[in-house]
Amino acid sequence: MDGFEIRNPRFRALVLPNAPLETLGTGYRWLEGPVWFADQDCLYVSDLPNDRVLRWSEAGGLSVFQQPSGFANGHARDRQGRLLTCSHRDRAVTRIEFDAAVTVLASHFDGKRLNAPNDIVCKSDGTIWFSDPVYGISTDYEGGKQPPQLPSALYRLDPASGELRVAAADFVNPNGLAFSPDERLLYVAETGDQFDEASPRFIRRFAVRDDGALSGGECFHRVEPGNADGFRVDEQGNLWSSAADGVHCISPDGELLGKILTPSLVSNLCFGGRNRSRLFVCASHTLMAIYTNTRGCVRP
Ligand code: MG
Repeated sequence: MDGFEIRNPRFRALVLPNAPLETLGTGYRWLEGPVWFADQDCLYVSDLPNDRVLRWSEAGGLSVFQQPSGFANGHARDRQGRLLTCSHRDRAVTRIEFDAAVTVLASHFDGKRLNAPNDIVCKSDGTIWFSDPVYGISTDYEGGKQPPQLPSALYRLDPASGELRVAAADFVNPNGLAFSPDERLLYVAETGDQFDEASPRFIRRFAVRDDGALSGGECFHRVEPGNADGFRVDEQGNLWSSAADGVHCISPDGELLGKILTPSLVSNLCFGGRNRSRLFVCASHTLMAIYTNTRGCVRP
């Protein structure tokens, strides 16, 4: 099977040998934060250093949706279908309302500014979970160099009450995150200090209580080569993670099942398209897509 690396025979049932890895567009600076809008049959994706968000659809191809975008990174939809955005420049999590007004949902914790919210997910109870590493404010390339006021952390926001809570604090830069299909587990990438090769880089797994409290946080899987930036979970609970050589599929017990190989490093991805079976891949400067034989978890 060209273009795949099979580590466990179970991987064969999850991919399609006759589905090509397609290039949807190239020449972007650095793609990140893809989110699928099934009702609009389109994808939104950040072209981060270009300070813009792109829109892709099968019929319309790629166009600019938002520029400037506040150096948008991660995206998600809330339970009402509104677009949630992590903004590096504004150091905030925002929401686009149905009348196109932008609401700042979180910009400070404990009276201090957030660092640069990076990736985001909305749980079925409406709570919004996001990572807040320092990457977006440690260079001018992805939003602007500014001093951090807070340690990096994982946050849980209840938009109903406005309560912002630190969900987990013992991180050297949390990054991508995703719940298991039953939401009993939360996977969070820890991607370490970008200027220190020796700092921790692995996916951690937390148990999630009904009240949203986390426990555990042990190492679930170490992606090699590169690291797990963003990832998504399929209906069977497999993780589809970014890596330096493509997309890695990791079983719920932490085993690497196989890889979809890409010509350039992958930063993030999401399921979308018909039945959520198409994987949209941010491969550095190129937006790629491939049909799989699995389906993304209903919650994006
Ligand atoms: Mg990220």
